[in-house]
Amino acid sequence: MDLKKYQEAGKIAKEAREYGANLIKEGASYYEVANKVEKYILDAGAKPAFPVNISVNNIAAHYTPVKNDGKYFRKGDVVKLDLGTHIDGYIADTALTVEVAQSSWESLIEASREALKAAIKHLRPGVKVSEIGRVIEEEITIRGYRPIRNLTGHSLERYSLHHGLNIPNYDDGSAAMLTPGMAFAIEPFATNGKGHVREGQGGNIYIFRHYDSLKSPYAEMFARFRTLPFAARWCEDMEDFENILRKGVRRGILYHYPILQERKKYVVSQTEHTVVMTADGIIVTTE
Ligand code: MN
Ligand code: MN
Repeated sequence: MDLKKYQEAGKIAKEAREYGANLIKEGASYYEVANKVEKYILDAGAKPAFPVNISVNNIAAHYTPVKNDGKYFRKGDVVKLDLGTHIDGYIADTALTVEVAQSSWESLIEASREALKAAIKHLRPGVKVSEIGRVIEEEITIRGYRPIRNLTGHSLERYSLHHGLNIPNYDDGSAAMLTPGMAFAIEPFATNGKGHVREGQGGNIYIFRHYDSLKSPYAEMFARFRTLPFAARWCEDMEDFENILRKGVRRGILYHYPILQERKKYVVSQTEHTVVMTADGIIVTTE
């Protein structure tokens, strides 16, 4: 574990999150915001660990814009901005929720924010992930909302975003523990809906499923993105990239992430920080 690199990635992720939050204005395009935030990360000396996710209203996660998707922020949108950075494979993963030009959903946004705060306060070596889940659920339900049960926080490893251990947003009864030496993301999602997301079409985020004996153009693509998720947007300089991505999915080389959503009439908020647990204590790298 390289604590310095985790902390540097975290610092840049925090700054990129704040920078991005200020770009989310009525009439701004998702595409422009995502590109600007990713450029900010690169200019600061890190790399995006995954495409900037912009998930709005009932969509909880895994949407990233493509050119000409015609998506612009509208008054009243509840926007989850979720971004990741890495330094040499050491990842920071962080998210916040903002409401565009209005504050009708302040208590829903607060529910995920306070749940994260309480979860972090509760961290100590050997704490069970189910205990963290219980604290999250309590903070959310006390405000009249539900946690999303099939979305979780997760452990992090070098160049690996979702690494084995899940940190639930409710008490799932798991005996798994958080211990010194671990890095992980905690990300409460709160909703006025069912507390269960389903898959939907068209997230525009991909990852390599396997990478043995790849041929052109997939070999070149893999050389760029390796084992981390990437955006269709990031392939715009490759001729015919849309076709290449489509074919890659059909042939089982690539995985295309579906968007994750509540039913249309409901709204979702999310807040996320990355934490490193050491023998000396807790370091929230993205705070
Ligand atoms: Mn995230
Ligand atoms: Mn995460």
